[in-house]
Amino acid sequence: MPELPEVETTRRGIAPHLVGQRVSRVIVRDRRLRWPIPEDLDVRLSGQKIVAVERRAKYLLIEAEVGTLISHLGMSGNLRLVDAGLPPLKHEHVDIELESGLALRYTDPRRFGAMLWSLDPLNHELLARLGPEPLTDLFDGLRLFELSRGRAMAVKPFIMDNAIVVGVGNIYATEALFAAGIDPRRAAGSISKARYIKLATEIKRILAAAIERGGTTLRDFIGGDGQPGYFQQELFAYGRGEQPCKVCGTTLREVKLGQRASVYCPKCQK
Ligand SMILES: [Zn+2]
Repeated sequence: MPELPEVETTRRGIAPHLVGQRVSRVIVRDRRLRWPIPEDLDVRLSGQKIVAVERRAKYLLIEAEVGTLISHLGMSGNLRLVDAGLPPLKHEHVDIELESGLALRYTDPRRFGAMLWSLDPLNHELLARLGPEPLTDLFDGLRLFELSRGRAMAVKPFIMDNAIVVGVGNIYATEALFAAGIDPRRAAGSISKARYIKLATEIKRILAAAIERGGTTLRDFIGGDGQPGYFQQELFAYGRGEQPCKVCGTTLREVKLGQRASVYCPKCQK
């Protein structure tokens, strides 16, 4: 599943080919994504110049002169640039053709992604209640500390809650808690301010490193497969249940927290 770093890598990969380009037409071969693609998307977008490609949480915002295409990659989606007219393969549901002769092609085998149109994207119902971006100053350990007071839920689902901070998916929550030495099962309300400051620092460091590594795959967005370098980071805990801790050698444990697999080191994480 594309996580925030992969979505940001996608944004950086496609933006240079889109910004300043006029859309010549939009071809929708299958509207049935998580929500149906609007029937009038072609009418809305064709003839307009793309002025920016932004990201909010895991939503890509492709901003035209009037209106914005909100895209989400769902479980299995990707966006890449191809030569317009390249015959589509199965699951290649949408082409946004540009005057340059390239087309932004959306592929999504499982069709959990989204392509929606909005005149006011930041106030769209999907985006309006999202918490701050993790790599901005609006997110820090003090926010985690203050919002967690009195809360009995485990710290891992707490930091994965989009209302607290966006973009901390299972991989990054698992790895940040390991790096901060915090047991993922611990009640959010029982963790000190100092430990939350450390945790926020680790969330930022790990996400920034993942985005930086994604940068090495930017050329894959044109002519390539549009798959940024998922899972290229060295993982200490995620996916390593029953294997030895890379720090202390203790066998890592796996538990379910908020329906998600959670791996931790019983010695390094308290
Ligand atoms: Zn350990």
